[in-house]
Amino acid sequence: MVRVDGDLDPETGESLLTALDAVLDAEAKSRKGDPRTPAQRRADALDEICRGWLDSADRARVGGERPHVTVTITAEQLANGDVAELDHAGVVSGTAAKRIACDASIRRVVTSGRSEPLDVGRRTPVVSASMRRAVIVRDGTCRFPGCDRPHTWCDAHHVRHWAEGGDTKLSNLMLLCRRHHRLIHGGFQVEIVDGRPLFRRRDGSILEDRAPP
Ligand SMILES: [Zn+2]
Ligand SMILES: [Zn+2]
Repeated sequence: MVRVDGDLDPETGESLLTALDAVLDAEAKSRKGDPRTPAQRRADALDEICRGWLDSADRARVGGERPHVTVTITAEQLANGDVAELDHAGVVSGTAAKRIACDASIRRVVTSGRSEPLDVGRRTPVVSASMRRAVIVRDGTCRFPGCDRPHTWCDAHHVRHWAEGGDTKLSNLMLLCRRHHRLIHGGFQVEIVDGRPLFRRRDGSILEDRAPP
């Protein structure tokens, strides 16, 4: 865990609370059946704010690129679901690494032995901009039953993970908001049946695909 504890001057505090409120308001509609506590919702909202900023295209570059969350993992570790390493926060579970890698940019680093880098490849997105556009046009919002979060809040999830041989093609991708992407990589399941997603809870029971409230 990363612990946050600090004092902000009134103006900075106001900015923070306004931003948190805006995120919480935006998801108020999908709050029904949400098991998270208010504190957990605020923590997720803070992640949403930080990721929104990291994703924005007009940020200053550091060392030729815009810094973003970086996970370091070997190809075998990723496929096996082993733990990975975050730059700042340290070790992260294999489940989290897979979820992050699901819709990320990948840079291949070939090493000799343990750590001597021989070759560093270009950073390339797993889901290309045009493929993402196609998924957005088809899905519009998060596909999780009852969720209508817009695509700007969503990841493009691989139904069969690319690290396990899944293709990055329209029929293997779907939009899932960050919260539901977490659920799907955390025990819930989704499969495509007759071109439609079928969601299952952890106990295997089917989630009805109903219209958003
Ligand atoms: Zn995913
Ligand atoms: Zn969702």
